[in-house]
This record gives sequence, structure tokens and C-alpha cells, in this order.
Amino acid sequence: MTFQAKPLRLATSDAGFDAALKARLHWSAETDSQVEDAVTKILADVRKRGDAAVLDYTHRFDGLSVVGMDQLELKPAELKAAFEGLPDKQRVALQFAAQRVRSYHEAQKKASGESWSYRDSDGSLLGQKVTPLDRVGIYVPGGKAAYPSSVLMNAIPAHVAGVGEIIMVVPTPRGEKNPLVLAAAHVAGVSRAFTVGGAQAVAALAYGTETVPRVDKITGPGNAYVASAKRRVFGQVGIDMIAGPSEILVLADGSTPAEWVAMDLFSQAEHDELAQSILLCPDPYYIDAVQGAIYRLLNEMPRAEIIAKSLNGRGALIHTRSMEEACEISNRIAPEHLEIASTEPHRWEPLLRHAGAIFLGGFTSESLGDYCAGPNHVLPTSTTARFSSPLGVYDFQKRSSIIEVSEAGANQLGVIAAELAYGEGLQAHARAAEMRLKK
Ligand code: NAD
Repeated sequence: MTFQAKPLRLATSDAGFDAALKARLHWSAETDSQVEDAVTKILADVRKRGDAAVLDYTHRFDGLSVVGMDQLELKPAELKAAFEGLPDKQRVALQFAAQRVRSYHEAQKKASGESWSYRDSDGSLLGQKVTPLDRVGIYVPGGKAAYPSSVLMNAIPAHVAGVGEIIMVVPTPRGEKNPLVLAAAHVAGVSRAFTVGGAQAVAALAYGTETVPRVDKITGPGNAYVASAKRRVFGQVGIDMIAGPSEILVLADGSTPAEWVAMDLFSQAEHDELAQSILLCPDPYYIDAVQGAIYRLLNEMPRAEIIAKSLNGRGALIHTRSMEEACEISNRIAPEHLEIASTEPHRWEPLLRHAGAIFLGGFTSESLGDYCAGPNHVLPTSTTARFSSPLGVYDFQKRSSIIEVSEAGANQLGVIAAELAYGEGLQAHARAAEMRLKK
């Protein structure tokens, strides 16, 4: 069977361009009431019955029948054995990727994840104390495919942040364990791991069961059941984000081989029929060349059907008047992944304000970032890059303000605080400040 992919062709000079672009970008995280109802029931049941409910749902949804929760725990020795049993090339690649991800997040911690303080002129100490979370849960999807890179990208920043305990959950349909996922858990410093998935895994982490410890925050992607469960337990625990379908936007000046760019567009499209791949370019002949490469390469791809559906349904090849205009439109789209396929990436990068990750220059394929460049691949989607950031060490830390007022400071601040407190009608506040004034 052969497939055809013809992403929508648009030009910014077209009348109606804005409306056409808006329609192409539209994606709604509509919640399916059947999913919502099922999740409500699962969460309540796990909260009430703990391990027994988790065992029932694991049997029902993952076809895995065991007598006790201890059989759903992956012991450290099993994780280590999986790592040691990997083919040499895979083991080296996994370690290499983990080391790059670790180094990047260590640098991130140094740059923005440390406590700080200063003394003011009265000798008072003011600052912020950074503390890692005590215990986090990482959800690793496993219903239809295995994602060892998700283990690294979630567990390593948590480990670098200094999180006390990292609890991993991953479904293993019919008990089929993926050795690379287990090995990644060993390499990334996961403390405990359970072969549990879906809403029941999120519930177990959020509420705790007899066996699964209750965590402070849950991170990691998953299907609609997982997303709905994470949304509902938020407040009880922290969550990282709710991810929508993957996105890539390529800003091209025509200098990168068209096949490279076509393959980069495929690399997001192959994730999901709802994934979005967009090219912005001021050269119409280059856009023709990329479309030609899409025609030529598509049917070489094992996931050609998904790619074709994604490109036909949500893809776009957009002719802009200039690279400057391309940057402006990219800012409107605020993509998850943004490639600058140009010989002058540093000329355009300062014009780009909203993107989960920016990949500079023709050699920087987005796929390198997915696995081993070092930065995190868990990124904001669906225009949320306007206000949110990649998963990082900071997601596994929290901050406490530090205030130590000297006697001289209390004398000055006490007058100000009392004045404002009386204004608010809060006598105790005012008097607490006044009692510390020098007589
Ligand atoms: P999953 O682990 O998210 O979900 C599997 C679980 O869903 C099962 O264990 C089961 O408990 C539950 N489930 C399935 N059918 C159910 C039903 N009818 N009722 C109640 N529960 C049910 O695995 P998946 O399904 O393969 O989905 C993974 C998702 O994660 C995909 O959408 C993929 O695109 C996404 N993903 C995103 C990223 C990212 O970085 N954004 C990375 C990897 C995967």
C-alpha cells in the first residue's frame, strides 16, 4: 500500500492567511466523557481499596494477573540485570545518552537551582532556600510502545535535583517487560519501580497504597487516561504538565538539504496522526523541493500511514515574505520544537521568543534532542511555550523564602509594618511589630 502526503500550502500574502493558519493550528484537548467517567471510578477505587484495586485494574487493562503487589515490583537486581543483558551497542548508547542528559541538568542546577541570599544595610538576611522534593513518581508510558528515553528525561533531572526517592510506574501489557526501559531505570537512578500503568498507577502514586508509596509530584507523559488522572489528582500532588500532540516547526532559508528537512517533519509526524509539522520559508522553490522530498521519502517509512495522516490533516508548508516574517509567525505558533535550518541561525534566534526547544543550524536535527543532545525532551506543546518551560531540575525543587531581621531592621520595618497593619485593622500584626521596636 502506498501513501500520499501533501501538507497544506499557504502564503502569508494570501488573503485569508490568518484564518487559514488559525484553522490549521486548532487543536482542542476535548475531554472524552467516557474516559473521564472511567478515571473517576478508578481513582476513587484505588483510594478506597489500595493494592487490591490496582491488582484488579492491572488484570483488566493490561492482561496481567498476579496474586500480590510484590509481583508487580521490579527489584533493583532485575533492573541491573536488564542493563547488563543489553547488547553492547545499546548499553553504550544508553549510558552515553544518560551521561549527556545528566551533564546538562547538572549545569542547569548550577545556573538556576541553588539557594541564594544577601544582607541589607541593616544586617538583615534575605534570600531563598532551594529544597529538592522528598519523593516523586514518574509515569513511563507503555501501553502501545516503550519509551526508555522518557525514563532518562524524567528520572535524571529528579536525581540531579536531589530528590530522595524516585518511584517509576510503567505498564507491561501481558507482563511483557521492555529490557531497555528497565535498564534506563537502572542508569537513571530510579529508587523503586512498579509494572502498573494508566489511571490506577497515577492514583497509587497520588494517594499511596499498602505497597506503592505516596509521592509529592507526578511527572511524565501518557495516554488520555493518564492525562485525565494527572489533571484530577493535581492539588493532592504536583504535576509537571499535560502534554498535547507533538509539534515541529522548521524555519528554513533554503540552505539545508530538502531531504533533511522533510525527514525532520516526518520525525514528529510519525508520533501521532494529530502531530503537527510546519515549514516556514521565504523561498517558494525550496518549499517545492521539500514537498518533492516528502513524496520521495514517505513510502520508505514504516509509519508512512501515520505520517501521511498527520501531514495531510495538520501539516503546512508556508511561504513567507522574509525570514523576519517567518520568525514573527513562529512566535505566534509557539511550537514545541523549533528548528532554524539556516546558515545564520544566530541571526534569527534573537527574534524567536516562544518555543519549547530551539535547534540551531542545519546539523541540529530535533531527533538528536529527543535522545542524547542533553536538554530535556519533555516540552510544552499547544502554544503553552508562551508561558511554560521544558521539564527541568527546577520541577523537582521548591523554594522557601528566608528572612532574618536584625535588631536595627526590626526597628525600621516595625514602624512601617505597624502602620500598614493598623490600616488593615489587624491589631495583632501591628503589636507584634511594635513590641520589637527599641524602647
Ligand atoms: P500509556 O502507558 O499511557 O497507557 C496505557 C494504560 O492505559 C494501560 O495500562 C491502561 O491502564 C490504560 N487504559 C487503556 N485502555 C483503557 C480503558 N479502556 N480504560 C481504562 N484504562 C485504560 O501508554 P499508551 O497507550 O501507549 O500511550 C502513550 C502516550 O504517551 C501516547 O499518546 C504517546 O504519544 C505519549 N507519549 C508522549 C511523550 C512526550 O514526551 N510528550 C513521550 C512518549 C509517549
